[in-house]
Amino acid sequence: MTHDLLQQLRVEPGSAPRLDKRDPDVRIGAKNKHEGLELLRAQVERLSALQTRLAAEATRAVLVILQGMDASGKDGTIRHVFTGVNPQGCRVVSFDVPTPTELAHDYLWRVQVQCPARGEIAIFNRSHYEDVVAVRVRGLVPKQVWKRRYEHIRGFERMLVDEGTTVLKLFLHVSRDEQGQRLQERLDNPEKRWKFRVGDLDDRRLWDEYMTAYEDAIHQTSTDWAPWYVVPADHNWVRNLAVGEILVDALERLDPQLPKPDPGLDGVEVS
Ligand code: AMP
Ligand code: MG
Repeated sequence: MTHDLLQQLRVEPGSAPRLDKRDPDVRIGAKNKHEGLELLRAQVERLSALQTRLAAEATRAVLVILQGMDASGKDGTIRHVFTGVNPQGCRVVSFDVPTPTELAHDYLWRVQVQCPARGEIAIFNRSHYEDVVAVRVRGLVPKQVWKRRYEHIRGFERMLVDEGTTVLKLFLHVSRDEQGQRLQERLDNPEKRWKFRVGDLDDRRLWDEYMTAYEDAIHQTSTDWAPWYVVPADHNWVRNLAVGEILVDALERLDPQLPKPDPGLDGVEVS
């Protein structure tokens, strides 16, 4: 995948993502699925090496935010792209419907505490973006409350970046048809049925409202310091390859360095 393709997936700060104009079904990054899987394997190895250095350096952190409708592939992305990453130094956090204790605080309270420590990669499976998307669509707080949150979020992420965290935000863009097929498969397959919640169908009925909410949220919060990427997600291999590329590119730009060895070690031999 070339740098140009990464630029295409990136939402320019201040501009609308135009989700309706982006095709979730495109096959990009490789000639075909076979080649895509080969390339992913190389990315997984590269990520593993880069993460080892990030952890050893222990001065900077990476936060990967995954958003998307049900069955857009958030879990699959984590399984496939992070499969080679050392679990020591990588943390996955899933944000569910807030608990009463969480609701008793501001919406960023539970988020801040889960942000990665120096040297760590944290992957958010859903995030504070639910507080301007699901919360908006389900009418959980009035408009004047969620509208103000875009500004808080821009500021919050600016603070994270200023303090040494790279913030990558990925919207897994699946089509309504593909989601329908995947949800049906979840219902029919006893191994997958546990993932299905009745509420998922309510959300599916509100598809257009969700797309509008995502359109606005991405538009309002794609910034120079914490850009959004819209990842075509109808084909798992395209999605994995695109996410792998975004991560490898970000880590290569960070170029984490191994700490200098203790000078006292010069000339020392293990007896
Ligand atoms: P899943 O990730 O599919 O297991 O489901 C998690 C559910 O929690 C989704 O329906 C989300 O919309 C919901 N959720 C997560 N965070 C929030 C939030 N801050 N407010 C309301 N719903 C949320
Ligand atoms: Mg779900």
